[in-house]
Amino acid sequence: MERFQIATIPGDGIGVEVTEATFAIIEAARQKTGGFSLKQDIIHAGAAYYRDTDQDIEADGEERAGLADAIYLGAIGLPSIRAKDNTEISPHLRLREKFELYAGVRPVKAYDGAPMMLADPRAAELDMVIIRECTEGLFYTAAVHNRSPKTNADEARETLRITRSVSERLIDFAFRLAQRRKAKRGHGHLTCVDKANVFKAFAFFRQIFDERAKQFGDIETGYYYVDAAALELVRKPWTFDVMVMENMFGDILSDLAGGLVGGMGMAASAEIGDHHCLFQPAHGSAPDIMGQDKANPLAAILSGAMMLDWLGHGSGNQQMLAAAEMIEDAVTTGFATRALRPMEFGGDMGLKQMTEALLEIVKS
Ligand code: ATP
Repeated sequence: MERFQIATIPGDGIGVEVTEATFAIIEAARQKTGGFSLKQDIIHAGAAYYRDTDQDIEADGEERAGLADAIYLGAIGLPSIRAKDNTEISPHLRLREKFELYAGVRPVKAYDGAPMMLADPRAAELDMVIIRECTEGLFYTAAVHNRSPKTNADEARETLRITRSVSERLIDFAFRLAQRRKAKRGHGHLTCVDKANVFKAFAFFRQIFDERAKQFGDIETGYYYVDAAALELVRKPWTFDVMVMENMFGDILSDLAGGLVGGMGMAASAEIGDHHCLFQPAHGSAPDIMGQDKANPLAAILSGAMMLDWLGHGSGNQQMLAAAEMIEDAVTTGFATRALRPMEFGGDMGLKQMTEALLEIVKS
């Protein structure tokens, strides 16, 4: 039986609650498929941990995360608990940096029976993935990296950084994902989103996109300037398959796209590098609903399914791939049969009931 080591960081607020739900669902799927086992190494980190210990992560936490086959994170940060410089506690951003997790993956999928924000019936076909670069772009000098040029009373500056090395790997990652989706769904398309008409950095990004596209002749390609991409994501998002873009553009467009299919409680995500990978729901610790059994655990659970899919794909473990699919299918079935009715969408089911209902579907 193939064994995988998972570094689990439940973190803060609803992060703790949805992490528990996720591993309960993963275990139910695993028991059905067999063929792999997961060993969890629980790492304490986050705002509450900082409040209690003055450290934002366990002393050897980063090292242990680096040794795992994958990192799973619930959510980190509580607005009321701040570091000495008044910033929020964010050890996970260091992990992103340290492990070079450059490819942010945000699937955007409509579920039959889940709320639809667009009236057009074609919105029900929405099934796309946004790939957001996560280590450079306009976040390169963001405060958290401590690279900001000095600001004064009259001016503040940030740097937009696009490198060949990261862009090539990011774009290749996006093409390979489009190929995987093509193998499953019969068609694969990759859209490059930039602002190449105005900024040299984005013209450079597009040039690299064109260079790499030559290696992936089986995938159709297209381009959008980011402003037009925002428009089309609202007008006809069902026409997109995979989109790849710089960090800030991805930050904004992935939330916009997430909003088209429900809300934060549905937004799964992954951050992938060449040697490490991290999976987490895109939402935060949601202090307004923590401890009240109100959170929708599906973003976290679908992130868990992405983790199984990624590890199964990398190792060739078919049972793990099957477990990932089983969880995704259970969510689809749950919405279609109205067995899943999250409070987040005005339904009557809190986190525990949602988890129980999904467990039942997975086990059936
Ligand atoms: P961060 O900056 O860490 O992402 P945030 O404050 O921007 O945090 P969230 O913590 O994600 O954002 O919360 C935003 C809103 O969405 C809150 O009102 C929260 O209750 C709601 N929310 C977030 N996640 C969920 C969830 N899983 N289920 C239900 N509601 C959620």
